[in-house]
Amino acid sequence: MPFVNIKKQYLAIGMLVFVLLFLFNTRPAFQCQFNAEVSPYLPVIYGITPTYVRLAQKADLTRLSQTLMHVKNFHWVVIEDSLEKTKLVANLLKESNLKYTHLNIKTHKTKHSTPVPLMRIKGARGLLASGVEQRNLALDWLRGHLDKSENKAGVVYFMDDDNTYSLKVFDEMRKVKRVGVWPVGIVGGMRVEMPLVSDGKVSGYNAWWKPFRPFPIDMAGFAINATLFLEHPEAKFSRKVQSGFQESEILKYFTTKEELEPLADNCTKVYVWHTRTQKPSILNPKKLKRPIVPDDHIEV
Ligand code: UDP
Ligand code: MN
Repeated sequence: MPFVNIKKQYLAIGMLVFVLLFLFNTRPAFQCQFNAEVSPYLPVIYGITPTYVRLAQKADLTRLSQTLMHVKNFHWVVIEDSLEKTKLVANLLKESNLKYTHLNIKTHKTKHSTPVPLMRIKGARGLLASGVEQRNLALDWLRGHLDKSENKAGVVYFMDDDNTYSLKVFDEMRKVKRVGVWPVGIVGGMRVEMPLVSDGKVSGYNAWWKPFRPFPIDMAGFAINATLFLEHPEAKFSRKVQSGFQESEILKYFTTKEELEPLADNCTKVYVWHTRTQKPSILNPKKLKRPIVPDDHIEV
C-alpha cells in the first residue's frame, strides 16, 4: 500500500536523522557536561590560582572547583602559599576530577619587600602583595609544560580563589588572540571597573582606584594567550611594584592599550566579580561558659 510505504520512508528518514544527531552532537542532553571532557578544537584554559590556609579556604575552593567542573578543556594550576602542600588542598583537587597541577611556594617576607600602603579600597590584608611568588612559579611550570606539549594553543587566566566566575567568562577568553579584557564587578570601590571601548578598541578605562595605573584592570579582567609566555620567557610578576600594579606589570610584556581585545560584548557585560569572603569570627572554646564538644578532628 502506498500509505504504508510513505510511513516507512518517514520512519527511515527519522531514524537516520536521530542517528546522525546522536553521532554529531558532542553534548547530548542526557550527558552531563564534565570537565574531564577534552576537545582538540578548543584552546586549553590554564587557570592560575594562589591559595593560602585560612578558615574559609575549603569553602572558597569548593565553590570555585565546582564552577570549574563545568568548563571544558580547563587545567587548574593551584599554588599553595606554604612550605608544604596541605592535605586539604591535595584531597580537594583529587576529589574534584579536574585536570590540575598542584604546586607550593611560601611568600618570602623579606625586609626588601615593598610595603604596600594599607589604605587600599581593594582590600587591606597585609603589607605584602599576595600571589607574586605563587603566580611566578605557575608561569615557570607553564613554560615547561608548553615546551613539552604538541598542542600549545591555550589561554592563561589568573584566578583568585574567592572571586565569583560566570561560565560565560571562560567562553569569552577562548576568543583571545593576544590579550583579551572585560569588566570586573564589585572592585576598586566601584560597581564595575571596565575598559571603555570605542570603534571596537579600548579607548580608556572606567576605574576610580589608582586610575594612573598603566592598565587599571583587575587580575580577573584579562586573559593572555599562553604561547606569549614562551615568546617572552622574561615575563613575570614583581615584588618591587606597589599594590595594584601587578596586573600592569605582567601586561606590559605583551600588549598596549591599543592592542587590547575587548570582549564580553565590547566590555558591556559583567561575567566575573571580585567578591571577597568575610573573615569568620569564631568563638574561643576556652572562653566559653558552657563546654562544647571538641571539633579539631573535623576538617572544615
Ligand atoms: N593569597 C595567598 N597568600 C596570602 C594572601 C592571599 O596566596 O597571604 C592568595 C589568595 O588565596 C587569592 C589571591 O592570593 O587567591 C589574592 O588574594 P586575596 O583574595 O586576599 O586578594 P584581594 O581579594 O584582597 O584582592
Ligand atoms: Mn580576593
